Amino acid sequence: MKSLDEYLRDAEQAHGHLCAGQVLGVRLAMLGLARLGIDPRGKSEDRKRLVTFVEIDRCATDAVAVVTGCRLGKRALKFRDWGKVAATFVDVTTGKAVRIAAKESSKTLARQMHPELEDKNRQQMLAYREISDDDLFTVQWVKVELPPEEFPGYKGERIVCAACGEGINFRREVRRDGKILCRACANSDDRYYEPL
Ligand SMILES: [Zn+2]
Ligand SMILES: [Zn+2]
Repeated sequence: MKSLDEYLRDAEQAHGHLCAGQVLGVRLAMLGLARLGIDPRGKSEDRKRLVTFVEIDRCATDAVAVVTGCRLGKRALKFRDWGKVAATFVDVTTGKAVRIAAKESSKTLARQMHPELEDKNRQQMLAYREISDDDLFTVQWVKVELPPEEFPGYKGERIVCAACGEGINFRREVRRDGKILCRACANSDDRYYEPL
């Protein structure tokens, strides 16, 4: 695996700036991969073994994507909008999965470690490099049910919504009263937009 500094350089480039969230995300992902024993930069088999769930849409998530190589467009990155700095790394060949979450106490710890720095981001950027894994994260072995259509390489049928006529991939359809519907047509609560 690359070093923390090498990953941080990559993350800075991908994300547009270096921030405390990047440092936290890189370390979180490095710890997850180390626990699983996967190096996505190594053999190509290793790259295809990994699926990552992220639980926040902030800076740290970009860093997790950089370190793992998991992308939304490859169906290897899954987003759950839970507002937590946490991610679960799944080895799809063995079924082993580990969830890593940033400890809430890390911010206070950063302030205590670097009171000489006034800027909170700089305080945390420095401290998040220095704090031990145990003080920074909780590690939890978990089980993740991953149905076939959630796997990166899965190719399934594509069908058409009876109401709007748009195509739907990979079993995302809803069947109701013998009709095949997309999620937007089947349930307005699911829909994030209203047609004008
Ligand atoms: Zn950022
Ligand atoms: Zn529809």
